[in-house]
Amino acid sequence: MRLVILGPPGVGKGVEAEMLSQRLRIPHISTGEILRSSVEEGTPWGERARSFWEKGELVPDEIMMELVRFRLAEPDCERGFILDGFPRTLSQAQGLDAIGKENGWTLDGVINMGASEETILLRLSNRRVCSVCGAVYNLITSPPQVEGICDRCGGKLYQREDDQPQTIKKRLSIYFREIKGLEEYYRNRGILVDVQGNGEVEKVYEEIVEKLTPKFEAKYG
Ligand code: AMP
Repeated sequence: MRLVILGPPGVGKGVEAEMLSQRLRIPHISTGEILRSSVEEGTPWGERARSFWEKGELVPDEIMMELVRFRLAEPDCERGFILDGFPRTLSQAQGLDAIGKENGWTLDGVINMGASEETILLRLSNRRVCSVCGAVYNLITSPPQVEGICDRCGGKLYQREDDQPQTIKKRLSIYFREIKGLEEYYRNRGILVDVQGNGEVEKVYEEIVEKLTPKFEAKYG
């Protein structure tokens, strides 16, 4: 299965993508994660992306296309993948199709997680991430048992640089600007799967699986 998961920052795409990745045994590829570690490690990609990423702006398409092309060529993507955080612009979506054409595949489904701006603002400002294992918490909906400490590994929790209020506003306005074009692009192709992203993680997951199953069966019998 070759999937894309769309949705505003903080809607919970990462959690749903991870669950799907385990069920379908395909890698979960988060371009935000790749960029964060590239910036932290100071790789050449990280250095080119840093100034955009820090301000919550989109990293230019040509850098993103290079990064995704490189990642999708890894052997673990042969059976499929779930892309999270990519594409974010129409030109990235067209670029992704071009990569597919070169390699003889097309996307099977594009999951579109909708949520109101209010919900997202609340979720993002309460998001905390483990500095050691990367586990994600929400101080309201899924708080850690001990404040500031990861339940899984005991690591220290931190607030992402780009989850600060001003940066959140910018990221959201970019998202709402770009999403209409992407929705239209994939809806016209008949592969857009709309789900409500506001609900509990398990409920959203069930809805995704239910709506993806016919596509899965049509392809793999
Ligand atoms: P995320 O973790 O998906 O919210 O991404 C964090 C940041 O990485 C974004 O605010 C952008 O600066 C950058 N980024 C991630 N994916 C993309 C993309 N597909 N296009 C442009 N910038 C991206």
